[in-house]
Amino acid sequence: MDETADIVVIGGGMVGLACGIALRDRGLDVVLCDPGEARARTSYGNAGVVSRGSILPMSSPALWGKLPAYLRNADRGLRLNYAHLPRIIPYTAHFLASARASRWRRAAEALLPLTSAAYPAHERLAARAGTSERLQRTGWLKAYRTEAAFAAAALEREILSEHGVAFEILDTAGLRETEPALVRPYARAMLLTETGSVREPGRLIEACEALFSGLGGRRLRGSVGRLWQEAGGWRVAHEAGTVRARQIVLAAGAASGAIARPLGYRFAVAAERGYHRHYALHPGSPPLTRPVLDTGAGSIIAPMGDHRIRVLSGVELNARHAAPDHTQIEAACREAAGTLRLGGPLDNAPWLGARPSTPDGMPVIGRAPRHEGLLFAFGHGHIGLSTGPITGEIVADLATDRPPRVPVAAFAPDRLLRWPRLV
Ligand SMILES: Cc1cc2nc3c(=O)[nH]c(=O)nc-3n(C[C@H](O)[C@H](O)[C@H](O)COP(=O)(O)OP(=O)(O)OC[C@H]3O[C@@H](n4cnc5c(N)ncnc54)[C@H](O)[C@@H]3O)c2cc1C
Repeated sequence: MDETADIVVIGGGMVGLACGIALRDRGLDVVLCDPGEARARTSYGNAGVVSRGSILPMSSPALWGKLPAYLRNADRGLRLNYAHLPRIIPYTAHFLASARASRWRRAAEALLPLTSAAYPAHERLAARAGTSERLQRTGWLKAYRTEAAFAAAALEREILSEHGVAFEILDTAGLRETEPALVRPYARAMLLTETGSVREPGRLIEACEALFSGLGGRRLRGSVGRLWQEAGGWRVAHEAGTVRARQIVLAAGAASGAIARPLGYRFAVAAERGYHRHYALHPGSPPLTRPVLDTGAGSIIAPMGDHRIRVLSGVELNARHAAPDHTQIEAACREAAGTLRLGGPLDNAPWLGARPSTPDGMPVIGRAPRHEGLLFAFGHGHIGLSTGPITGEIVADLATDRPPRVPVAAFAPDRLLRWPRLV
């Protein structure tokens, strides 16, 4: 089956769907290709946090102090499969080069316009998709178990303050009053007040699929295998045929690097895998009203629909399709049981997804350097649910030759196509 379109979007997660919707809004004939399996999308199973303050990448100056624990797999927030390491050497080199205060500050500056536009873009999208009741601006908490852990995050607070990101510092009693569901006596917490969250991100994704189809977008169920240039544009091969189009948007999350490779683009990217499990709250517990990052456990607990609690693990650096390793999520669930009054688990096995990660914590958004008509929109790492909708609007700007509404120079693809610079 051969079809034609103005533009093909590869990938139907938060980023791809937002691109498809924004491109339909510009009147383009859009085909979106995705295998269509809801749980295979990282956008399905995340914590749903939409935070203006998510401007500080994982590759932080604190990395050097944590490196010995990271290398021993002794830090709860990060687990490395050593057998996978040779495959991510370029990513690791960039990651280490980014772990300096100057780079951290530069990334924060570049990300702020994107994260500042994220919540308004979610509000617009939710209103159209009919999911506004799932989006709530309750703030989110970063909780510290000790005064020393809180003190170690001083640079983070300094950078957030410099950029006018609003937060309040709570002591043990203040936190208990703000979030009575938490039973662990944290020493301190930071409440990021401008933050919202999506309860049940998977429902938002389903609603976006319906919105895209309702706008006249065409969905092709299946994986894209190959793409190549031909007279007048591109041809995209999927499982049941091909699509010809003038432009392509590559928004396939953690699969994007592999899809771009045959075109000669070797991106320094990696899959940061993460897991979740759901629990009921004990009937006697007050409800949890906002997501909480337990910095001591390296994991997040987030309220979802039907009073369920989603426990989410930290980062596992491993091959995208490797067998699941439940070490981190099991530890995260044990820790969560000391943080909340949890009832029994609600699902049989943990969910697994892969954050499409770049080593400098910034997405890849922009035109392909060597191919006309090819746009990249991937690598959103830890902030793809939140910044997906605004990325869609930016991509629609670029595809219709308008200036992007958010500056994207820092997100240019070519920064991850060469070895890192050390200055
Ligand atoms: C545990 C965890 C917690 C997180 N918490 C948050 C959070 O609180 N806030 C936040 O903003 N972000 C969070 N994230 C990150 C966020 O989920 C991701 O950044 C985001 O989902 C990426 O969206 P995406 O559309 O790029 O990728 P995905 O949602 O993975 O979508 C990519 C799509 O491309 C498809 N695809 C792959 N290969 C092909 C192919 N060959 N052809 C066609 N389609 C293909 C896939 O099947 C998939 O449907 C979290 C992630 C994890 C793992």
